[in-house]
Amino acid sequence: MLTHDLVEERSFFGGLTAQPADALLALIGLHRADARPGKMDLGIGMFRDDLGQTPVMRAVKVAEAMLVEQQESKSYLGTEGDGCFAALLAEVVFGAGTDRLTGVQTPGGTGALRLGAELIARSRPGATVWIGTPTWPNHAPIFRDAGLPVQTHRFFDVASAAIDFDAMIEDLGDAQAGDVLLLHGCCHNPTGADFSGEQWREIARLCERRGLLPFIDLAYQGLGDGLDADAAAMRGLLRALPEAVIAYSCDKNFGLYRERVGALWVQSISTDPVRGNLLTLARSLWSMPPDHGAAVVRLVLENAALRADWAAELDAMRARINELRMALAASHPRLAAIGDQRGMFALLPLGPDAVEALRRDHGIYMAGNGRINIAGLTPENIPIFVAGVAPYLA
Ligand code: PMP
Repeated sequence: MLTHDLVEERSFFGGLTAQPADALLALIGLHRADARPGKMDLGIGMFRDDLGQTPVMRAVKVAEAMLVEQQESKSYLGTEGDGCFAALLAEVVFGAGTDRLTGVQTPGGTGALRLGAELIARSRPGATVWIGTPTWPNHAPIFRDAGLPVQTHRFFDVASAAIDFDAMIEDLGDAQAGDVLLLHGCCHNPTGADFSGEQWREIARLCERRGLLPFIDLAYQGLGDGLDADAAAMRGLLRALPEAVIAYSCDKNFGLYRERVGALWVQSISTDPVRGNLLTLARSLWSMPPDHGAAVVRLVLENAALRADWAAELDAMRARINELRMALAASHPRLAAIGDQRGMFALLPLGPDAVEALRRDHGIYMAGNGRINIAGLTPENIPIFVAGVAPYLA
């Protein structure tokens, strides 16, 4: 047996420290191994239908068949990926008026966030990225691993299930000109709490006054109030400010999760150096983004019938989530705020012991911080869920 010190000395990798497993991904295995018939998977953030399935969307199935039929080569496309994909998607994301924007295809929203972080690190090394708490657990590591310092600001008060906007503005009083402010464009993960129109306008004024760059993560367009409604806040910010970064994911609204489909756009005063730098950064990160999912999105968006069917199915997905939201909100006074929130998630005021007990005693699986994926519920099991959770809701 080698002692730890010896390992550190002899192994090239002895300088590494052990890393915890991803707790949310570990839930998948735990849930799968649970034999109880009424178990509820409210963990990982994927849309589910009433049968608990995450189906391939109809228009995606058709587009995939078209691809198999029509695609004659898998030859390299280039670092920017499928140029038509980004151009067609930009219409969905921004509506009209995309002239000050530079966009490239990325491997998912995660790739977009990382590419945006790398661009900032190259342009403004040491710029602090301000992130509201709680947030998607991957946000801080993405920016830190790109070499950017991260600071948190208060955002959501779990006990009152509401945004604490005054606390947020107070904390951002410490931000310096040239810092970056990360914002969820819609359907906040994990809280479901989005800013009001007035709060977005206040954020725009704050960014302008303090010289902060807004970095908008838009991963759930169409799953809150609709495609245009969910993009409205981001579009308003782009009108109000000269520069901004938008990281986008198609993985939820096209149900393409494992295909890794996303895009990064930068609105900037001068677009030329931005584009060249995005491409050289992407070249060393992944050389070229994966094609299949982006080609599918392109085919759906360029075909009027497929596009209409995709939008209709997305409408139905959103309606299902919002019906479940309303049912949950009506089921218990402590869950009432869920009716005003949007997207797939809600953050319940549950400590780790309650989360563990719900898993053990009721087969209810949720993230360790009390986040539930609302789409994992059904109208039938909501009463069972609420009966299980109620004793823990103070
Ligand atoms: N941002 C947020 C807020 C997310 O919740 C997620 C996915 N969970 C992403 C970005 C990344 O999405 P993708 O799977 O496309 O990388």
